[in-house]
Parts: sequence; C-alpha cells; structure tokens
Amino acid sequence: MAHIHLMPDHLANKIAAGEVVERPASVVKELVENSIDANSTWVEIELQEAGLQRIRITDNGDGMDPDDAIRSFHRHATSKIQDENDLFHVRTLGFRGEALASIAAVSRLTLQTSLGTVAGAKIELEGGKITKEDKSDARKGTDITVDELFFNTPARLKYMKTIHTELGHITDVLNRMALANPEMKFICRHNDKELFRTNGRGDVLQVIAKIYGMNVARNMIPIEAATKDFKIKGYVAKPEVYRASRSYISTIINGRYIRNIPLNKAIQQGYHTLLPIGKSPIVILKVEMDPILVDVNVHPAKLEVRFSKEKELYELIESTIRETFRKQTLIPRVEKNK
Ligand code: ADP
Ligand code: MG
Repeated sequence: MAHIHLMPDHLANKIAAGEVVERPASVVKELVENSIDANSTWVEIELQEAGLQRIRITDNGDGMDPDDAIRSFHRHATSKIQDENDLFHVRTLGFRGEALASIAAVSRLTLQTSLGTVAGAKIELEGGKITKEDKSDARKGTDITVDELFFNTPARLKYMKTIHTELGHITDVLNRMALANPEMKFICRHNDKELFRTNGRGDVLQVIAKIYGMNVARNMIPIEAATKDFKIKGYVAKPEVYRASRSYISTIINGRYIRNIPLNKAIQQGYHTLLPIGKSPIVILKVEMDPILVDVNVHPAKLEVRFSKEKELYELIESTIRETFRKQTLIPRVEKNK
C-alpha cells in the first residue's frame, strides 16, 4: 500500500503561503508588484485595520482575460517566464507564480479584471477555493480585495502584532515601492484616511518630499556613476540629516527593492566618519545591471539577491558617495606623504 501521496493543491498552497505571506505587508508588496509588472500608471491601496481586515489594490494595468484570471490562482502559474533561460534574465518583479495562489489560500479574495475591451471576470475565492464566478465590467485593469487575511490559519493570525506595527511594515513596503517607481501614481488610504499619494510624474525628489518631508528633500544630493557593468543613480542625504534606523536606506536593483547588508555597509562607508556612530543616512540608490549579474531567485519573498560581481559594485557605491562629499568639501583630502 502506498504511504506517499501528492498533496492536493489547496494544501500545498497553504504551506507555500507560510513563506510568501508572512504578514499583511507581504500581501501589499506582492499585489503592488503585480500592478507594476502589468504596466500600470496608477495604483490605489486601501487598507482596513492595517490590512488584517481588508487590503484592496486597484490598478489600471493590462488586466487579464477570464481564462487567465482563473489560471492566475494556480500555483506556479505565471505569464512572466517561460523557460529556464528566462530565469536568468528576469526583468519583472514577479516570476515565481506563487503570490496569488498563496494569498488566496489564506484569505477571502475577490478578483475583478478586464483587458478593457470586453467584460472581464469577477472571481471569488475562500481559502483558495473558487466560490463564485461572474462577469466584471470592462474597466481596463485589475482590482483585488483580500478580506480577513489568515482567517483559516489561526496560529499565524495570533502571531500578528498590533495594528500600529503591521501598518508600519506596510508603510515601509509602500514607501520603498513609491521611491522605486516615481513614474507611477500611488494613492494609499488606511481606515478611509489618506496616508500618502504621489503624483506619478517621475521625480524621485518629489516622492522623497511626500514620504520623508520637505526638509529631507531639500537636503538630498544627487549621485550618479557608471562602470561597464553597473549604473548607479540616486540621492544621498547630507550627513547632518541622519536617522537612528537603517530603514531609511533604500536600495533598488533593476527596479526591485532589496535588502542587502554588505550593500548598506558600502553606503555607510561612503559617508566615512561624517555620521555619528550608530546612526544611519537617508539614501535612495538605484542600480541598473544586466539581469544575468544578479540572482533574484534566492528567497521566496524575493527580498534578497546575490550579485556575481559584488566587490566591484560595493566599491563603486562607496567611492561615488565618498567623492560626492569630498566635492562638497565635507571630507578633507588627505595627501599621502611621499
Ligand atoms: P508572478 O507575479 O510571479 O507571475 P502571481 O501569482 O503574482 O505570480 O501572478 C500570477 C499571474 O497573474 C501573473 O504572472 C500575471 O500574468 C497575472 N496577474 C497578477 N496580478 C495582475 C495584475 N494586477 N494585472 C494583470 N495581471 C496580473
Ligand atoms: Mg507576482
């Protein structure tokens, strides 16, 4: 008698959700990433009770036809990569085909989507199972509502922190995404109150002003440099506007916000001794490189990456920031004795 059997999809999805959907902020991240990948020029994020009660993301992107809308909830279903080769040239934020299946597995979800020419689909799911299929109107774009996240995973629900903490995680994600995508308009509301909005005109400095305030924006210095392999561009705050936390450093690789400790260290070292000990600068750094040089398939939430020429990259970042402050005569040039 066989003891081993394949799991049914809804069980496998629930297990995968444990990795992909850690908290409401993970849902916001995955859904907004999908809106970005779908070429949206605006996205609206509506939250109730820090997303624990409701997360609604509406975009004006490409949308899906009704068949794709159903397929999008299958595990490993994606329109973004087709073969192994594509995996080494990922240009989109998504590629794993896991997010919708995982989010749907641990919530009550409603998807409305249309290509814009004809009526689209309206699909309702509970715990990953489709409970209703209908037509939607023909508004081009996608609208996803996630209600009662973790309603069927009580242990995970219990692990959720206060509304304040969960909202903090969401704002952190949204700030980074707005900074990475200044050409996209973000409108974000919590419990019917507006948190922030950006104008989508492509100016990072304006997004900085919206998120961190005018005073920070006024104290940002632009940086730019390139080598054969890397192009870096961004803003570094003057050392006197430092922060206590490292969460004010945003590193964006090929449009993707990532976390990378050595990269943060390279930035800090660029500031040399200009920052007080234990303090962190405000930095928005965008790096463009051939996708072959960066492995994004390291972490289910795609927050961590590996670089194949990391030393060169860290050196470029450190020296560019250092030179910037040298030019501002904040760092004296020490001549070596001959
Ligand atoms: P991935 O983003 O890794 O492909 P997802 O589970 O997040 O996996 O999404 C599955 C597929 O559903 C995507 O590849 C895309 O084709 C489609 N999709 C998801 N969200 C949207 C959206 N907002 N607009 C258009 N298509 C979408
Ligand atoms: Mg995705």
